[in-house]
Amino acid sequence: MKIHNYTIIIGCGRLGANLANTLSDNGEDVLIIDKNREAFRKLSPAFGGLSLQGDATDLDVLQEAQIGNASAVVAVTNHDNANILTAQIAREMFHIERVIARLYDPEREYVYREFGIDTICPAVLSVKEIDKILSRTEISKDSMQEVAQ
Ligand code: AMP
Repeated sequence: MKIHNYTIIIGCGRLGANLANTLSDNGEDVLIIDKNREAFRKLSPAFGGLSLQGDATDLDVLQEAQIGNASAVVAVTNHDNANILTAQIAREMFHIERVIARLYDPEREYVYREFGIDTICPAVLSVKEIDKILSRTEISKDSMQEVAQ
């Protein structure tokens, strides 16, 4: 049985810890996994979820996290291969509907799509944001010129 809004986050780095803090603040059930115990220091004192130390590519660790009950799994370690593997396990073995993985290498995005896994790629997101800022700057430059004329 799936627990409503039970999210497992894999990797308690800058992104994972921030996400865990945000979801916990929103009252959601969160469990965060990291292989390095020190990483949990990034969680805020108000974090109301659970933390589990272990290598998330180890099936026993995922089972200890009760992955079968999760409504969402977010794989945000600093290793694309670990993110691919855990996301695939979540999707294929445990049929988790919402699976999101961070991907440093945008060229591997197709691998995920084939498995119905959503991806976020920091490089691609940054390019989009920078492009947006640049075009906004262009527009304001244009309108400045229009006003000046
Ligand atoms: P960051 O680079 O700040 O996003 O941090 C990524 C986090 O992922 C670090 O805290 C790592 O210890 C953690 N990590 C990397 N590989 C694994 C893994 N296989 N299982 C669990 N945590 C991992």
